[in-house]
Amino acid sequence: MPLGIDFEMQDVLEAVRLVSRSVLDSRSYPTVKARISAVLIKEKRMLNVTAEVPSGASTGTHEAYELRDNEIEYGGKGVNNAVSNVNTRISSLLQQNLNISSPDKFDIKMIELDGTENKSQLGANAILASSIALHRLYAECNDMPLYEYLRKKYFPELSDIYRIPRLMSNVINGGVHADSGIDIQEFMIVAKADNIDENVRLTSEVYNLLKKKLKDSGYSISLGDEGGFAPHLKTNEESLKIILETIESSGYRDKFEIALDCAASEYYDSKIDRYKLDSKLFTREELCTYYINLINKYNISSIEDPFHEDDYEGWSLLTAKIGDKVKIVGDDLFVTNIKRLQTLGVEKKLGNMVLIKPNQIGTVLETVNTIKLAQANNFGTIISHRSGETCDTFIADLAVASNSEFIKLGAPARGERVAKYNRLLDIYDEINSKTYVKDG
Ligand code: PGA
Ligand code: ZN
Repeated sequence: MPLGIDFEMQDVLEAVRLVSRSVLDSRSYPTVKARISAVLIKEKRMLNVTAEVPSGASTGTHEAYELRDNEIEYGGKGVNNAVSNVNTRISSLLQQNLNISSPDKFDIKMIELDGTENKSQLGANAILASSIALHRLYAECNDMPLYEYLRKKYFPELSDIYRIPRLMSNVINGGVHADSGIDIQEFMIVAKADNIDENVRLTSEVYNLLKKKLKDSGYSISLGDEGGFAPHLKTNEESLKIILETIESSGYRDKFEIALDCAASEYYDSKIDRYKLDSKLFTREELCTYYINLINKYNISSIEDPFHEDDYEGWSLLTAKIGDKVKIVGDDLFVTNIKRLQTLGVEKKLGNMVLIKPNQIGTVLETVNTIKLAQANNFGTIISHRSGETCDTFIADLAVASNSEFIKLGAPARGERVAKYNRLLDIYDEINSKTYVKDG
């Protein structure tokens, strides 16, 4: 007998315990893991759920605060303070609130306990790990897959027709994610077949073909942080050329689009108010023209963070010029923050899509609220991983639950990236066996 979406924990569970520890992420830095164990009173069955949070490198200045120890260990990147906040303050908060009826109510309690605008007291890493684990616990209590629980809890208006998001797959890494010397951070391919199996296959084939092409041309095939290759190409445009040639030689030209994440804050020089690309300086107007040329020449369908996060003029210029035909995605601009999406996206009309990274804001509830604001205002949503990842697959479930158009999940290589691809394949099988599924 399912419990229903909302129920008081104390009526259903006993021996509820929230604990945390530090584990490694894909860059070999510590990150926060939370575990909740509990016993279902009726069945005397033990439940165990966990959550591990990711971490960015090209973080936006307006993101929620990731609490690091800044001690000698791990080069300052230890998370012992965040772990201890879960084990003491958040854990006792949970014990005091076993009468809450849903995990979003606990998110609000954590936000109140933290008391700061950017979660700098407890740390967004401590709060998010606890938030995801509690959502998993509620799903488990209902014997429900996480995407189904999230759909029923937060997106009931979307009915029970699930859509598997399209994959934004990183194939060449630049910026701060690699030592390739390429300024633009991410070159992605976006397969557009009509089911996930086919999209995974096409992506994997092109990825491997690109590997061979780079190797045959004498380039390094070492990988960047998100699993894309990190060849030392001469210019940014070279990356696009070699990707397009690879797609063409694969015979799948009509099956792919190309997407960029510029992460332009990383190549903006505020002292001279110029962008530096391929060792040349650009004004925002010149950069706009440069992007439009690339977009037309290489059939780019989506461009993320083309200007730095406070360059509203640049954002506005590009959105006005090409916003009706190209996806202009705000990552560092919106930082999954509902207020920034409202004022900069909805009101100022900067960009037309929002990148959603749960750890930029720090709770599942706030992440969902930002998605809902986007959906109510015709802003597309892309649920995204971070450059530092774990094998946690929460974003795959969230993308399906919210019917997001895209998921940005790195290359189809490296365990922490592949975990998300494979989770989507599992979800696809699961919902396909139950109900009608519309892909793409
Ligand atoms: P990050 O990069 O996780 O290092 O911030 C991802 C992105 O910019 O989209
Ligand atoms: Zn980005």
